[in-house]
Amino acid sequence: MNYNDIANLIFPDVTLSTDEIFDRYPKRKLKEGQMVTRFAPSPTGLVHIGNFFQAFISYNIAKNTDGVLFLRIEDTDRKREKVEAKKVLYDVLDNFDMKFDEYQTLDGADKGDYGPYVQSQRVEIYKAFAKKLVSEGKAFPCFCKKTEGKEDVLKLRETKFVEDDEKEYDPCRNLSYEEIKKHIDNGESFAIRLKTKNQGNERIKFNDLIKGELEAKANAKDFVILKSDGTPPYPFAHAIDDTLMGTTIVVRGEEYIASTPAHIELFEALGFKQIQYCHNPLIYKLNELGNRRKISKRYDPESNMMFFVENGYPKEAVFEYLLNMINSGFEIWRKNNPEKSWKEFKFKPSQITTVAPIFDLVKLNDISKNVISLISGEKLFNYWLEWAKVYDESLAKVLENDREKFVRVCQMDRDGKTKPRKDIFNYAMMKDKFHYFFDRPVKFNIDDEDREKAEEFLSEYRKNFKMPSSNEEWFESVKILAGKLGYATDNKLYKANPNEYKGNIAKACEFIRLAITGEKDSPTLFTIMEILGEEEVKNRLNVKF
Ligand code: GLU
Repeated sequence: MNYNDIANLIFPDVTLSTDEIFDRYPKRKLKEGQMVTRFAPSPTGLVHIGNFFQAFISYNIAKNTDGVLFLRIEDTDRKREKVEAKKVLYDVLDNFDMKFDEYQTLDGADKGDYGPYVQSQRVEIYKAFAKKLVSEGKAFPCFCKKTEGKEDVLKLRETKFVEDDEKEYDPCRNLSYEEIKKHIDNGESFAIRLKTKNQGNERIKFNDLIKGELEAKANAKDFVILKSDGTPPYPFAHAIDDTLMGTTIVVRGEEYIASTPAHIELFEALGFKQIQYCHNPLIYKLNELGNRRKISKRYDPESNMMFFVENGYPKEAVFEYLLNMINSGFEIWRKNNPEKSWKEFKFKPSQITTVAPIFDLVKLNDISKNVISLISGEKLFNYWLEWAKVYDESLAKVLENDREKFVRVCQMDRDGKTKPRKDIFNYAMMKDKFHYFFDRPVKFNIDDEDREKAEEFLSEYRKNFKMPSSNEEWFESVKILAGKLGYATDNKLYKANPNEYKGNIAKACEFIRLAITGEKDSPTLFTIMEILGEEEVKNRLNVKF
């Protein structure tokens, strides 16, 4: 059979040769140990945390080997591709400071020598390689269609295949030049399928950077490499792009392990050197019963990376948490290096967990609380404001108009004297947390049995109230009054004989705190009073619970 003629018959317009393509993509000059990694998302309108996980691993590998990280947009599934979706993707990457060495800008300019970095712009390349495979007898045009009552043919192909590894029944596998011409002259469309050389009983081994050596059944399917609309399904585009673009490690989700044997056969058929794979575990969640399930777009808002942006999580917290999930070594490193940036952690792909990581928002919140507690007040204010400008415009206006006051609010208990409070895990919660700086409290978190006592205490406290000049002075004045009114000023005495007192000094302080903030717990009350000012504090002390 003259495969070359067949190739020219079905691809008359493809004149670009694969040699010419290779000339356009010279081998990268890499120093010893340098790795080339990539993030290859399909623009679906959201960035799933699992995909971001891969981007993050790729980023770390490139960074730690002084290598290259590039972004490739996998948009050949045109039905799903939307300009808006691409924008969302770029926005998320931007929000997380995920910088690529090579990529295509949103307005279509390629930055880097291995573009175009968008698959829909690489169709002529895929066609050239498909033509080459056909010309070598390694791939063939398939005219079977799902419509026109030919479903049976397709079904037969699949079932026979599995049952007796018989491929010769295939109506398209060995069509002659003349038969193909007839189909084409009839105006029939066709897909291109790889002609597998396997019989169905072979096994292959391949190495995975995380899971080590894996063994699987070799591919034995004539799978499609070019659809009838001329676009390549994932395996073909992956093999060609990652080879031409010089990727040295492909980090992708472990859902691709099952199809890796097919990818390996494609690499062989194309004459490409096999690329190292790194299949990272999928992310799970625990349901109410404690059972694992895959984190899902439908049920888990935190599966979408925008969740963290919209709720104002510091990106450092998200990165810290991802590192925590990937690599248990990170937790120990963090304990020993509490002040260092996560970026200083030496990340090794071989240490990535093989056990399915479980996403736990409570844990992320804990990490985030810690990260936020270490941010200076001024910086925290700026992050809060930046967040509000996008997600709560009226709040942003208030913050901007009263900048000095709210910088002080953010600065509370961050003077190095007191241990920083760890009660804020994102910017979205800050307005609620500090509600008493926005409005005088109307709801009070007071225990019912305390109401009367509290009002009685406060009516005395406000009588001669003057703004104290220090925390110590404030506390001293509360102590004196509390003692007069029958509160224990010494906790030991109180504990020994609680019935002799109306309460202890802490209770008295709580009443003042409740009047001023509505809460039983708050940052240093004296600081809050200072920020609110004498007039406002006086007004608040005049409270009816
Ligand atoms: N576009 C594929 C995905 O989003 C990429 C897989 C890969 O990284 O090779 O799942």
